[in-house]
Amino acid sequence: MADIGHRVLVTGGAGFLGSHLCDALVDRGHEVTCVDNFLTGHRQHVAHLEGHDRFSIIEHDIIEPIDLSVDAIFNLACPAAPGHYQADPIHTWKTSVFGISNMVELARRNGATLFHSSTSEVYGDPDVSPQPESYRGHVNPIGPRACYDEGKRAAETLLFDVHRRGDVRIKVVRIFNTYGPRMHPYDGRVVSNFIRQALAEEDITIFGDGTQTRSFCYVDDLIDGFLRMMEGPDDLPGPVNMGNPEERTILDLAERVLALVGSSSKLVKRPLPPDDPLQRRPDISLARERLGWSPSVGIEEGLQQTLEAFRGLDLDEWTPPTEYWQGPPLEA
Ligand code: NAD
Ligand code: UDP
Repeated sequence: MADIGHRVLVTGGAGFLGSHLCDALVDRGHEVTCVDNFLTGHRQHVAHLEGHDRFSIIEHDIIEPIDLSVDAIFNLACPAAPGHYQADPIHTWKTSVFGISNMVELARRNGATLFHSSTSEVYGDPDVSPQPESYRGHVNPIGPRACYDEGKRAAETLLFDVHRRGDVRIKVVRIFNTYGPRMHPYDGRVVSNFIRQALAEEDITIFGDGTQTRSFCYVDDLIDGFLRMMEGPDDLPGPVNMGNPEERTILDLAERVLALVGSSSKLVKRPLPPDDPLQRRPDISLARERLGWSPSVGIEEGLQQTLEAFRGLDLDEWTPPTEYWQGPPLEA
C-alpha cells in the first residue's frame, strides 16, 4: 500500500462526498485542509470537525491558484447535480479546467499525489452497457450538460498528459451516481428530490417515462474506494470506474422510496431534460481486480440511512439563496 503522506488537501471538502472523505481522513490520523467556496457545500457538513487540531478550512475558489504545503490532494471541488452545475455553466467549466490546472501546479510544486473525481458523465448518453473504462463515450459537446461533461473530460486530458510526462502521481476515479446523508436536499438530484418529496407528501417528479436507468452507490462504499485507489499501486493512475453495478429504473427507485417512507405521494410525469442519459451502469471489473473493491451496501440499507438523515434536516436552513440560483458573478 502506498503511503499518501500526512498533510492532505480536500477541495470541495464541505460538499456531500468531500465532507465524508474529510471524516475518513481525520479518523485515519491525517492532517486535513478543506478548501471550498461554499457554492453547493455547507459548513454544517464539517461543523463537527471544526476545532479539531488536525482539521482546517480555507474559503477559496479553485479557479484561482493557491499555495499550500501538502503531501496529497483530493480534488473534489465541482458542483455535481445537473441543476447546480447548469446554474452557472461557465463557472462550472472553469472549475473543472482552471481548477485542475491549479491543482496540477500545486501537486507538482509539492511532489504530491493528485486524486481527481471524474465522472460517469464522461460517457455521456452511452450506447454500450455496462460502461467499461475503455468506452470513449457519447457526449454532446454543446448541450446544457457539456459544461460539466466536457469540463471533466478536459481535466482527464490534462491529467494523463502530466502523467505521461512523469510530472505528478495521479489517481483518477470515474464516479457513478452516489447518494447518502449530506446530499443537498435541494440539489435536484433524483434521490434527494424523491426523499424530500415523499417526506413532505408532495408529488414525486418522474422526468420522462421513468424507464431510464441509473446505478446508485452508497457514499461509504465510494469513500472506501477513494482510499483504496489513493493508496493503491503506482501503476494504476486510472481512470477507474467506481459505482454500484446494480442498475434500476427511476420508476423502481420512486416505488422503493415511497414504500420506505410510507408516503402517499403521487408519481407525476415531467419532461425529460435535454441530453439526459437513458442508461448508466458501471463495469467495475478493474476496481475489483486491482483494488479488491466492490460496493457492499444494498439499496434498502442505503436509502434507509439517507432517509434518516433527511428526517433530521431543518429544510429552512437549506433553501437555496437567490444569488445561488442566479449563479456567482462570471469574473471573481
Ligand atoms: P457537492 O456539490 O456536494 O460538492 C462539491 C463541493 O465543491 C461543494 O462543497 C462546493 O461548494 C465545492 N465547490 C464547487 N465549485 C468550487 C470551486 N470552484 N472552488 C472551490 N470549491 C468549489 O457534490 P458531490 O456530490 O460531493 O461531488 C463531489 C465531486 O465528485 C465533484 O467533483 C463531482 O463532479 C464528483 N462526482 C460526484 C458524483 C455523485 O454522484 N455524487 C458523481 C460523479 C462525480
Ligand atoms: N430525475 C427524475 N426526477 C427528479 C430528478 C431526477 O426523474 O426529480 C431523473 C433524471 O432525469 C435522470 C435521473 O433521475 O434521468 C438521475 O438524475 P440525477 O439528477 O440524480 O443524476 P444524473 O442525471 O446526473 O445521473
